[in-house]
Amino acid sequence: MMKTIERIALPPPAPGTRRELTVHRYGKPGARPRAYLQAALHADEHPGLLALNHLIRMLDQGRDPVVGEIVIVPLANPIGLSQQLHGYLLGRYDFCGGLNFNRGYPELSEPVARAVEGSLGDDTAGNIELIRTAMASALADLPRDSELKALRAALLGLSMPSDIVLDLHCDLEALVHIYASHHHRDFAVELGADLGARVVLLEKEPGGSPFDEANAGFWWKLRERLRDDRVPLACIAATVELRGQADVSDELAEMDAANLYRFLQRRGMIGGDPGHVPAPLFQATPLEATDVIAAPAAGLVVYKKELGDIVETGDIVAEIVDLAADDPCAGRTPVQSRATGLLFSRQVHKLLSPGMSVCKVAGTKILAHREAGALLEA
Ligand SMILES: [Zn+2]
Repeated sequence: MMKTIERIALPPPAPGTRRELTVHRYGKPGARPRAYLQAALHADEHPGLLALNHLIRMLDQGRDPVVGEIVIVPLANPIGLSQQLHGYLLGRYDFCGGLNFNRGYPELSEPVARAVEGSLGDDTAGNIELIRTAMASALADLPRDSELKALRAALLGLSMPSDIVLDLHCDLEALVHIYASHHHRDFAVELGADLGARVVLLEKEPGGSPFDEANAGFWWKLRERLRDDRVPLACIAATVELRGQADVSDELAEMDAANLYRFLQRRGMIGGDPGHVPAPLFQATPLEATDVIAAPAAGLVVYKKELGDIVETGDIVAEIVDLAADDPCAGRTPVQSRATGLLFSRQVHKLLSPGMSVCKVAGTKILAHREAGALLEA
C-alpha cells in the first residue's frame, strides 16, 4: 500500500513554540479521483477527529486498494486546539484576530481567471488541468506571514486540487446533517444517505467564504467571472456536521468512518463493492427554509421538543425562563417555530442572551425572514 505521512510546520506564533499540520496521503500522488478530508477546523468540534482516526486505521489495514488519491488532515486546526482558557476550549474564533476559523477564505477565482482567460478549449479534461495549474500558482502566492494565514494557505493547498472535499464539523447538540451547494444536489443526497444524515441543506449562495465554498465555489465563481460554460464544476465540497459536541465515542466514530469509507468506494477513490446506496433518512431542503430560532429574551432555555421531533409553524419549541422575574409563573417567554419541519439542532449551554440560537428547524418552504448569503447566522 502506498502511504506517506507529511508534517507541515506553521510559523511560530511566539519564540519557543511551534505547531504543525499532519497529512496522511494514500494512493499514487496525482491519481484521480482525489478526495480530501479534514476535521475540527472549528477546534471545539471533536466527533470528526475520532471518525478520521478510525478512517485512517481502516485505510492503513489495506482491505481494499486505494484507486485514486485520499488526503486526510486529521487535525485541521492546531491553533484553535490550543485555545484553552481556564479549562474551556474556545475553538471557533481565532484568539489573535477574532476571525471565525471557517470564514473568510481567500477567493482564488480572480487571479486564476486572469491566468486562463482566452486559453480554454472544448476538451473538459484539458480545461480542468489548465485551471488546476493556474490554481497551483495562485495557491503558492497566498500570504503565509502569520500562523493563521499559513494554516489557511496550507489547508487550501491540500484541498483545492481535489475532486471531493469533506470538512467534518459538529453542531452543539444535533442530528447528523450536511451543508452543500444546490449545484451538487445528487452528490449531497448520496453522501447524506451513506452517512445516515437526517438533514441535507442545499445552499443557493453560502456567503462568508467558508472552507467548503472556497473549494467548490471557486469553480462556479470562475465560470461566472469568465462567462464561459466550459469551466466545469470540478470540485464538490460539503460541510458534514457529525451530531453534537458531546457525541464522541468509538461506536459512533467507527460507524461514521465505515460510512465515509463506503462513500469513498462509491466515488471511486477506493476499490471494492460499496453495495447499494442506503435509503435516505431525509429530504434535501433549501438552506433558506431552515429556521434558526433566536432567543427573544435572556434566561434559561427549557425545551418542549426533542431532537428529531417534527414541529409545525407556531409550535412552542422551548420557553425562556427569566430568573429575575418577581413571579416565576409570569417569567416565562414561549419560543415558537416559524417553520414546519424537523428539529435537528439545540443548544448545549442553557443560559441564553437575546438573539442566541435556541434551535434549528429544517423546513421545506423558503422563509421570508431568512437572509441569503449569511449561512445560518441571519
Ligand atoms: Zn463548525
